[in-house]
Amino acid sequence: MYKQGDTCPICGRGSLKATKNKEEFEYKGNVLSLELTCYSCKVCHESFFDNEEMKVHQKTVKDFHRKVDGLQVHILNIHAKGCC
Ligand SMILES: [Zn+2]
Repeated sequence: MYKQGDTCPICGRGSLKATKNKEEFEYKGNVLSLELTCYSCKVCHESFFDNEEMKVHQKTVKDFHRKVDGLQVHILNIHAKGCC
């Protein structure tokens, strides 16, 4: 995990500045918004995300997809029941 003020792992000279970025993921018309921490270096102008945080978010996105798919199956069942 990186944190604000850490030495930049890219150039080893600058210190990291953490900023919160809001990211929106859309899946089948449903939107999930997440807050990602973006780290940037003033010396080499590199910016990157924290790997551990990305792993957590990937899981959240996967769960979101599963939830959306679950909802769709539910809607399809209702349609199937109502048609005859
Ligand atoms: Zn740097």
